[in-house]
Amino acid sequence: MNLELTEEQTAVQRLARDFVDREITPHVRDWDRAEAVDRGIVKKLGEVGFLGLTVDEEYGGSGGDHLAYCLVTEELGRGDSSVRGIVSVSLGLVAKTLAAWGGEEQKRRWLPGLTSGALIGCFGLTEPGTGSDAGNLVTRAVRESDTYVVNGTKMFITNGTWADVVLLFARSTDAPGHRGVSAFLVPTDTPGLTRRTVHGKLGLRGQATAELVFEDVRVPASALLGEEGKGFSVAMSALAKGRMSVAAGCVGIAQAALDAAVGYAGEREQFGTPIAGHQLVQELITDIAVDVDAARLLTWRVADLVDRGLPFATEASKAKLFASEAAVRAAGNALQVFGGYGYIDEYPVGKLLRDARVMTLYEGTSQIQKLLIGRALTGVSAF
Ligand code: FAD
Repeated sequence: MNLELTEEQTAVQRLARDFVDREITPHVRDWDRAEAVDRGIVKKLGEVGFLGLTVDEEYGGSGGDHLAYCLVTEELGRGDSSVRGIVSVSLGLVAKTLAAWGGEEQKRRWLPGLTSGALIGCFGLTEPGTGSDAGNLVTRAVRESDTYVVNGTKMFITNGTWADVVLLFARSTDAPGHRGVSAFLVPTDTPGLTRRTVHGKLGLRGQATAELVFEDVRVPASALLGEEGKGFSVAMSALAKGRMSVAAGCVGIAQAALDAAVGYAGEREQFGTPIAGHQLVQELITDIAVDVDAARLLTWRVADLVDRGLPFATEASKAKLFASEAAVRAAGNALQVFGGYGYIDEYPVGKLLRDARVMTLYEGTSQIQKLLIGRALTGVSAF
């Protein structure tokens, strides 16, 4: 793998850095306190092309490779994980999955809006009773001539209250386990679908997380994404790439922790010297820096595999596992460098830690990533 960025990749990285410093960083604390990012950010993300990365220009995308996508995702994660998550879900889990699995009509209907930011997508897999064991989901889609009637509840859905379309996973046949699951594209204004905001999150407070309740929601058969009964494969392919995106966001969190810790350590004096001069403070900073580099290299390797059309799912699990745990460690170490000031939200590191924590939980917990990697290594499923 060539670790030198191309001219285009460097340009997109610079664009993302400037965008974050101008449009996100100045508002982060207010959005966190208000428990809502300014929705206008979605349109701005669309205008700059970040909601269409890797999607063909034919469908309104801005093209580019997956390393460029990771560079942008890292910068967004450095700025605000709530905003990063909006992109990772609407583009990463919904638009990119639609581009990979959708029919021509579905692509023309949804992709231009999703890539421009005129529309927002959400990914409806998790249910109150099935999280890690997603293949046993119980939401049902019962076929009645040319429509499906959907009943069930989805939980913790990122972008849920904002979204115009949900990529929904529901059981549509009696085949056991994940073999009975199908994927559907459901407009969120369909009668019978209600949404409730999940309040009181530890982190990602600016993000619209929701519970979606489907009561006799009628969905045309044309909304089926991929073949009937192949929905779990659709979900798993989306999540494998999604894990690369989460990992890149975690690199951004860890980088923000490093920048903040180095800056503060140079200014804060204790025992007559900047705390940067104390060896144990240098140890904290060094540990963050090593985590940043290791997480970034693992993530770039996944992007390189994706761009070369090679298998990447296990490497994505490794990157997500390591980067999410590294982001929690890095933010915790940065908070330690800040001492008591790290514990109040006048300073940025407490939010980094709160935002990092969920990365070890969603798109497969750290335990689930270990089981995926373990299965790939041993050939034995230990789920
Ligand atoms: P559980 O599956 O109940 O797990 C509880 C604990 O048991 C965990 O520690 C887990 O690792 C462990 N565990 C479970 N099974 C095993 C096993 N076989 N071996 C060892 N340990 C095991 N979902 C969506 O579909 N779309 C979204 O957009 C989305 N966004 C989210 C946003 C936020 C802020 C949050 C918090 C969650 C989001 N999720 C979303 C849901 C997320 O993916 C799930 O929370 C996650 O998969 C874990 O499921 P669970 O919470 O039900 O935990």
